[in-house]
Amino acid sequence: MHKLFQFDINLTKVLKSSRLQGNRDELMRIGIISDIHANLEALEATLKALSDQGADSYICLGDIVGYGPNPNECIERIKELKCPVLKGNHDEMAAVDIEIHNFNSMARSAILWTRDQITPENREYLNSLPYIYQNEFLFAVHSTPAKPENWDYILTIESALDALHDFTEPIGFMGHSHSPFFLEATSPEHGYIVRENILSVKSDCRYLVNVGSVGQPRDNNARSCCVLYDLDEHTLQRLRVSYDISVTQKKILDADLPVLLAHRLETGY
Ligand code: ZN
Repeated sequence: MHKLFQFDINLTKVLKSSRLQGNRDELMRIGIISDIHANLEALEATLKALSDQGADSYICLGDIVGYGPNPNECIERIKELKCPVLKGNHDEMAAVDIEIHNFNSMARSAILWTRDQITPENREYLNSLPYIYQNEFLFAVHSTPAKPENWDYILTIESALDALHDFTEPIGFMGHSHSPFFLEATSPEHGYIVRENILSVKSDCRYLVNVGSVGQPRDNNARSCCVLYDLDEHTLQRLRVSYDISVTQKKILDADLPVLLAHRLETGY
């Protein structure tokens, strides 16, 4: 058996013994969010939905800012969670005054706008974020496990399977493409995309999970997307959350951000 698949006897024990913080009797339900993109209405609705589902800790995979109208408010809300937070490409570009590479014109103008808006403290905060979070049972990154700072995309099942070789934990979480998926790998060469919104984590499989986007979904579903990892039930659940899109759209237009950034929210592209 490939070494990355030798979890058969230990995974349950690892899951039951692991804690992100402190000594707690109950097992955890981790809410995993990504690509908020300064959409405060989507963020608040998503955090409420996760809390309603029993989330007691969180991980944020980055791109708190960019595209949307509330960068400072979203950064403050994420800080309140006191959770691991990773750097996304939009966070990086908003935090430093370097030439903007690999961004389309809409993304570019939103970054320039965001640079003007964010406070010095929040700029420093974004700049300080790490690229990777990992503990004994999960790995998390914004873009790709191999070279997160290159901001490449994982868009095919082949590249998703390849990415499993770039970390050793049973489950890897990522965002960046704004298109959610669950990849369940039964061996280093074989895996499939799970269509259901909830899956049971098997101790002899490995997983790559794109948690989708809170603030700008691009899978033709306008509702916010996130994942709840239940370490008690050993399940991964994708949540879709409705929010008042018209409020965010109005803010985008009032801020003179590109009009298409408002329009795309209601169709999810
Ligand atoms: Zn993004």
